[in-house]
Amino acid sequence: MTEAVGLYFHVPFCLKKCPYCDFYSVAKKPEEKEFLAIIKEDIRRKKSLLEERFFLREIRIITFYAGGGTPSLLSQAFYESLFSELSKHFIFEPVELTIEANPEGLTLEKLSGYKEVGFNRLSLGVQSLANRGLRFLSRVHDAKTALKALEMGAKVFENLSVDLIYGYIGQGVKTLLKELSLLLNFPVKHISLYELTPYEGTPFAERFGERQRQKNLRLGRKLFLASHEFLEERGFIHYEISNYAKPSYFCQHNLLYWEFKPYLGIGPGAVSRIENLRWKDDEVLEELTPLDMAKEVIFMGLRMQKGFSTLQIKRLLGFSIPKEDLEPLLKEGLVVLDGERVCPTLEGFLRHSLVVKYLWQVVEALYKEGGR
Ligand code: SF4
Repeated sequence: MTEAVGLYFHVPFCLKKCPYCDFYSVAKKPEEKEFLAIIKEDIRRKKSLLEERFFLREIRIITFYAGGGTPSLLSQAFYESLFSELSKHFIFEPVELTIEANPEGLTLEKLSGYKEVGFNRLSLGVQSLANRGLRFLSRVHDAKTALKALEMGAKVFENLSVDLIYGYIGQGVKTLLKELSLLLNFPVKHISLYELTPYEGTPFAERFGERQRQKNLRLGRKLFLASHEFLEERGFIHYEISNYAKPSYFCQHNLLYWEFKPYLGIGPGAVSRIENLRWKDDEVLEELTPLDMAKEVIFMGLRMQKGFSTLQIKRLLGFSIPKEDLEPLLKEGLVVLDGERVCPTLEGFLRHSLVVKYLWQVVEALYKEGGR
């Protein structure tokens, strides 16, 4: 049997740990030789697991995403060896190969090297184009370095994506729109726009008191709506709750997660999911029941403008969500129906957790009753 999957490669190294970051990464420069040996072993283990547990003899890698951490701390030669190893074990024919890069330490030569080895999409961790914002986020780079990186990135990569964070203290609608205008001086095709969130366990969680959280909640809504309007007017599609893209530049790799398609992860901390099994390294984290999978389809689907398919829910659970159960959401203007799809409105995006919670309760109750 052949399975088509997306492959995520986790690079757990950064120059410095950012105080808001809850990703697994350590402030350390990578020892490439040592790290490559670990990754090769990981690939071999994953391959045997896929053969033994899923009887999959052929795996086709359709997207590749190097994320982190800071994948741009690794050299062109490293990726050359990695891709050649992957080709030995899988049908390695990704249509989209993304590398995340931080602005510090980037050069035209380095970027060209990544392109030469096969990457066709660059995701730049700009985060802010204001020195005030970058200082607040304790980033290594300043605005000048970010602008330089954008200039170089656009020279080498036609498919250029940028990560931005909004909601740092001191940023209002005006400053956010100024940063977005500055950004759009470059031919950026994709923007990931995340709200600054003080995740538990990070130094920022301690710094942000309850009053600040409440204030941010109100401001966050304003910033979200203002950026939505600004970017849509300039031809970007708000295709996912935190992602905007020009037509035909949606991130193919991330769509696999949101559409509940199978993916493999390599590198420390990377999670894989095929069928109903989710695992990390050799450890099975979860065996998902049909109800778990339906809930994930709802959660992930409602992150996308195109929503989730009720047919997919029916395939998993054996019953559909009756229209009467969608009525409260339709009435409140939180979702709309598009054929068999339930799609969030802009207000539905803003109240994503509430919509998800409601629909989870609906499917849980139906599941208990065995459908209606
Ligand atoms: S550079 Fe990115 S991955 Fe590394 S610590 Fe900062 S936010 Fe986290």
